[in-house]
Order: sequence, then structure tokens, then C-alpha cells
Amino acid sequence: MKTPLVGRMTSFANAHPDIENVEVEYKQTWFVYVQKPGESDIKKLTGVHDIQPIIPCCNEKCHDGGLNIEEIISIMADSKKAELVDQTRQCMGHEGRNAYDSCPNHFKYSIRITYKKDKKS
Ligand SMILES: [Zn+2]
Repeated sequence: MKTPLVGRMTSFANAHPDIENVEVEYKQTWFVYVQKPGESDIKKLTGVHDIQPIIPCCNEKCHDGGLNIEEIISIMADSKKAELVDQTRQCMGHEGRNAYDSCPNHFKYSIRITYKKDKKS
């Protein structure tokens, strides 16, 4: 399932006009199983227009999975938090038909936010 939609990415920037720049680094623990040769398992997103609300899970058996990065950034932005380093969160999806069979994939992530200065100097 592909999540990125231009309209939603634009709405992220609109929803967070105080954010100047965002840098996200993340790694999926399931990634080792699907990694292509020469491909780094650490992914980077830079800039508000690069942020998709949900980072898709790379486990093919996973349903409704991923990491809700927009939610995490929104919570950070509410308290003007600038940095979150080496956080881990389990994928919110599930494998197969059983909703209780949680996806074993985990996301390790670091987020850095630069806020716009609200005063003109
Ligand atoms: Zn998953």
C-alpha cells in the first residue's frame, strides 16, 4: 500500500507552520530481510515536504502497519521539542487475518526539528 499523497504532504506543512525544517532518520528491524545489496538500512527524510504521515512497514505480511511519524512530530511540536534520539516503536500493524497477531517489525528513529523564529529581529 502506498501512502504518500501530495495533498496530505502539503497539509502536514500547513498544519505545522511553525516548523522550519524536519530531519527524520529511521531504520526498520524487519528491513534486513528485504534489503537489496548496497542499500542502506537507514533511511532519511529531510524537510516538511518530505514527511509522509505514515512511514510504510516493509514487512510484506503486515496489514495496516507503519509508523505514524506525523503524530510523533505533532506531539513534539506541541511542546516545541527539538530532538528525539534513538526511539523505538513497534509497527502498529498485524500479520494475517488475526488483528491480535502483531507485526514483529520495529522502527528505530531519531527526529530533529528546527522551528521558525516567531520574532522578527
Ligand atoms: Zn508492520
